[in-house]
Amino acid sequence: MRYIEPHAHMVSRVTDDYQAMVVAGCKAVCEPAFWAGFDRSSAQGFYDYFCQLTDYEPRRAELFGLPHYCWLCINPKEAEDLELAEEVMALIPEFLERDNVLGIGEIGLNKNSRNELTVLEKQVNLAAEHDQLILVHTPHLEDKLKGTRIIVDVIGNEPRIDPGRVLIDHVEEHTAKIALDAGFWGGLTLYPESKCTSPRAIDILEKFGADRLWMNSACDWGVSVPLAVPYAAQEMRRRGYDDQTIDQVFFLNPVRFLRQCPKFKVKV
Ligand SMILES: [Zn+2]
Repeated sequence: MRYIEPHAHMVSRVTDDYQAMVVAGCKAVCEPAFWAGFDRSSAQGFYDYFCQLTDYEPRRAELFGLPHYCWLCINPKEAEDLELAEEVMALIPEFLERDNVLGIGEIGLNKNSRNELTVLEKQVNLAAEHDQLILVHTPHLEDKLKGTRIIVDVIGNEPRIDPGRVLIDHVEEHTAKIALDAGFWGGLTLYPESKCTSPRAIDILEKFGADRLWMNSACDWGVSVPLAVPYAAQEMRRRGYDDQTIDQVFFLNPVRFLRQCPKFKVKV
């Protein structure tokens, strides 16, 4: 099979993971900027991280012939300090010019706090000003429903943003419809412990249709599985789906969304 890994934090993974992904059929990996497992002490820490995402990590992926793309932002987990957030957001425009940058992400909410909301609004504005795609992180567990509603309102009320150029990630049974009905794309995150297992993700796909959904492993510094996407394809195969449908969900769908950024060049 061929597939796209549209959300993976490869800076936290070992090089062998790249090898395994390529052998499994991965044709491109996309890495949103997020928490690194620790809070960075200054804007300089983010500058170095953005250099890592746009320079070092693509070169590591290239060793395996795998195109590496990224998204840039200050993540909601580190957005409590508004002064720091301002300094980090000021760094982003110069990096948006770089070859592998697809847009602004993963922005969103973590605990649905007032400061997180302020930074979310500023980054939506940044995306609008620079005509960027947006990738959105939604909160976990009990904060998810409320957070998703707030995010959909904030972005949906920005007339300069086309919802078809925004993907709301980590949707679940109770939030997928909110994102899809507002015209956004949705992402299903395959995690062994929290978020979705493969059977649950396929159930959601069957309920809401595969038109504007993609799946990702969101593998990072925590317990996660870099091959979760091809494993979910295996679950679809077990349920009797044909190769064409599987290709649509795991390859053509993410390509259709990501190609809205002209820098995303993966041959179909
Ligand atoms: Zn993530």
